Amino acid sequence: MKPLGPIPAGFTARDGELVIGGSTASALIDQADDTPLFVYSRDMIAERIEALRAAMPERLSIHYAMKANPYGPLLEFIADLVDGLDIASQGELQQAREAGYLPREISFAGPGKRDEELRAAIRAGVTLNLESEGEAERALEAARLLKVTPRLAIRVNPDFELRGSGMKMGGGAKPFGVDAERVPALTRRLLEAGADWRGFHIYSGSQALDADAIIESQAQTLDLASRLAGEVGIDLSHLNMGGGFGIPYFAKDTPLEIEAVGAALRERFTSLPANLAETQFAMELGRYLVGEAGVYLTRIVDRKVSHGTTYLVTDGGLHHQLAASGNFGTVVRRNYPVAIANRFDAEPEEVVNVVGCLCTPLDRLADDAHLPRAEIGDLVAVFCAGAYGASASPAAFLGQGPALEMLV
Ligand SMILES: *Cc1c(COP(=O)(O)O)cnc(C)c1O
Repeated sequence: MKPLGPIPAGFTARDGELVIGGSTASALIDQADDTPLFVYSRDMIAERIEALRAAMPERLSIHYAMKANPYGPLLEFIADLVDGLDIASQGELQQAREAGYLPREISFAGPGKRDEELRAAIRAGVTLNLESEGEAERALEAARLLKVTPRLAIRVNPDFELRGSGMKMGGGAKPFGVDAERVPALTRRLLEAGADWRGFHIYSGSQALDADAIIESQAQTLDLASRLAGEVGIDLSHLNMGGGFGIPYFAKDTPLEIEAVGAALRERFTSLPANLAETQFAMELGRYLVGEAGVYLTRIVDRKVSHGTTYLVTDGGLHHQLAASGNFGTVVRRNYPVAIANRFDAEPEEVVNVVGCLCTPLDRLADDAHLPRAEIGDLVAVFCAGAYGASASPAAFLGQGPALEMLV
């Protein structure tokens, strides 16, 4: 038997069924008229952001990193709850505009921005987080031709990384950002070129659950930002401090203690160096805001036994939930939180493998999982599906097509 990840707090049962946003799983599927279905809860997203705001210093803006979940209705809903949006492509820019975000609320990071993307962002008035000197020159040239003053920030490749983070995005050689020691020279270049200077973007990692590690990296981020601004001899207008707040996906993972992170940051904000005294601070979060508010529902289409092992075969799989299958940045496959949605309060009775419908051994949703007895037609719920699900999975693989999505 392999343990399942922890089901996020706040999910209850009614008539034996999992309830999401006030409706039972089967009612939601009736409404959507098919499976597989992603359901995202408005209330859970709103509560999460409210708690985060209460824990963090008021001075800190909260941005949503939309690559975590770009579903249109969710993007529109979250617009009223956050202070800004981080995008990583022209396609995301388009989706953001359609969802009603204003260009001045948007910043655009990501390596490999094409000239066309730079032009679209500059024309719209979006802040570009520059990833290299070459990209900076291309942006300045695009702005000159457009006769627009570009809003430019520099993404710094920090000389440290977020301890214990799931995906390392800083420290050493990286395709992201400009190496810290070259940032002062590039800053001077942008200032001399007359750009609207939007400060630094320092992102050091993702999916951290250890408050001390985040506190340490935030302190290092502030020190680095102050040192770089000091080398240029300017006050820093803006600092995007990154994020990296994780959510518990696996057994033994424990929730991040945001109160501890917030208290440490408040303390730091009371004794900032002079060149950060007037800085506008922002943090960018994806999965922490939306990940636990989403559930993936898929129906069991077959129940079979092979050499004594029981398989529950579903109509979903890795083409919608690549991360839960263990094929999205994990080294050792572990089980996400999974349940039988229409027997949500039943006791576990048997050990089974839950698999997807794809013809590949990679398509696993839960291995050796202790679950209530389930038959053909029953519903499997995969939790922590609100981030890096639908849009981060190969929906076209094997001709299956996308899942349905719903905000409730
Ligand atoms: C992916 C990404 C994020 C969001 O990461 P989460 O782990 O979902 O919070 C934020 N900022 C940058 C630069 C990213 O690449």
